[in-house]
Amino acid sequence: SSGSAGTSGTRFDLEKETELRFEVEAGERVQLELFSGMAEVFGSELNRNKKYTFGPGSKIAVFTWHGCTVSLSGKTEVAYVSKDTPMMLYLNTHAALEQMRRQAEKDNERGPRVMVVGPTDVGKTTVCRVLLNYAVRLGRRPTLVELDVGQSSVSVPGTMAALCIERPADVEEGFSVQAPLVFHFGSTTPGTNIKLYNKLTSNLAEVFSQRCEVNRKASVGGCIINTCGWVKGSGYQALVHCASAFEVDVVLVLDQERLYNELKRDLPHFVRVVLLPKSGGVVERSKDCRRESRDEKIREYFYGFRGTSFYPHAFDVRFSDVRIYKIGAPSIPDSCLPLGMSQDDTQLKLVPVSPGRDLTHHVLSVSSVEDEAEAGAGQSRGILESPVCGFIVVTAVDTQAQVMTVLSPAPRPLPRHTLLIMDIRFIDLK
Ligand code: ATP
Ligand code: MN
Repeated sequence: SSGSAGTSGTRFDLEKETELRFEVEAGERVQLELFSGMAEVFGSELNRNKKYTFGPGSKIAVFTWHGCTVSLSGKTEVAYVSKDTPMMLYLNTHAALEQMRRQAEKDNERGPRVMVVGPTDVGKTTVCRVLLNYAVRLGRRPTLVELDVGQSSVSVPGTMAALCIERPADVEEGFSVQAPLVFHFGSTTPGTNIKLYNKLTSNLAEVFSQRCEVNRKASVGGCIINTCGWVKGSGYQALVHCASAFEVDVVLVLDQERLYNELKRDLPHFVRVVLLPKSGGVVERSKDCRRESRDEKIREYFYGFRGTSFYPHAFDVRFSDVRIYKIGAPSIPDSCLPLGMSQDDTQLKLVPVSPGRDLTHHVLSVSSVEDEAEAGAGQSRGILESPVCGFIVVTAVDTQAQVMTVLSPAPRPLPRHTLLIMDIRFIDLK
């Protein structure tokens, strides 16, 4: 089953229910080709005699249900075949979800709402991708709900999003991101503002439920919710909150019995909590690796990805033309809160930011809230509940001239004038 070197790369003959795992070296690219049989990458089928290219740092598994021959060319850090994969269990999980969708169709009910949880580096994002792919390959229209603010698969870091899945993920590029619903969170960990995190989870659940009411396919397709690896304390409470906000039917717990037991104890009895093993192929990622992939995600937003290059615009924005807010006032002791105000209020409060040099390199979300609706009292509700329509990065600030230079995917003017500041910075080296 292992390879032999040749001009066309290293050949691997894979037996049924095995997978070829490989990692691409830094600064390198690896090409994969399927010669015979059938194979899939995280639930997306490979076409025969097509070359797939994976960039530096990619960590890939090529799985086959019935056996296949593939080749790899380029510099891999590791490449080995494993017979020990949990794919059969993941397929069974998919089959159970599909059964629920069929039942939902028959009974005019809604399809399964599934939350995938577990500590970091257990393959949560990958399991979501596999389950979504299997569902959409059967003609379903499941929704991906992305709650991982550190490593979002839908939008830039610091956001929470929902995406209707209409076709399998591209083997090289993942799911096509058209018209996602994106909310501004503003930081890469939920702990920065857990009240806001829970509030935005509720917002997403509400929007998804509204969509299900008017769209039968979306309702039957259900959703797969990807979560953060923070499973203790407030992180755990956020999972419980999510389960209730989305009224999830199924929770898939990857690799952690303690979390499984806690959720079984704390969630209503009708919620099916299932413990699944992680794949031995899942690769741990260092802090640096995570930071790099966050950076890459922002770079892709402005400059495009592989075949598709975008040409972002740089222009000046007058301070007087925009309103910049940070969500959440710094927390202060309860005893110091003004009468009638709670800690919740401070975490969801919109704090106006006066532009200064320290804005430089920050990512700002452009809120879709109507400019007029935003003025006056009660504004905070509108802004928190409005999705974002895009992102800009502040590349320079001139306090003297009262302008800032921004990097924007679209030419001036900005589509809206309410901006929300993220903790996240992006240094544009291009
Ligand atoms: P995080 O805690 O960062 O959210 P996660 O639990 O979502 O991580 P994944 O992102 O799904 O984990 O997987 C981590 C890495 O391992 C990814 O780069 C993914 O491509 C890779 N990976 C997952 N499954 C396999 C496998 N079977 N073989 C090889 N690589 C894999
Ligand atoms: Mn993940």
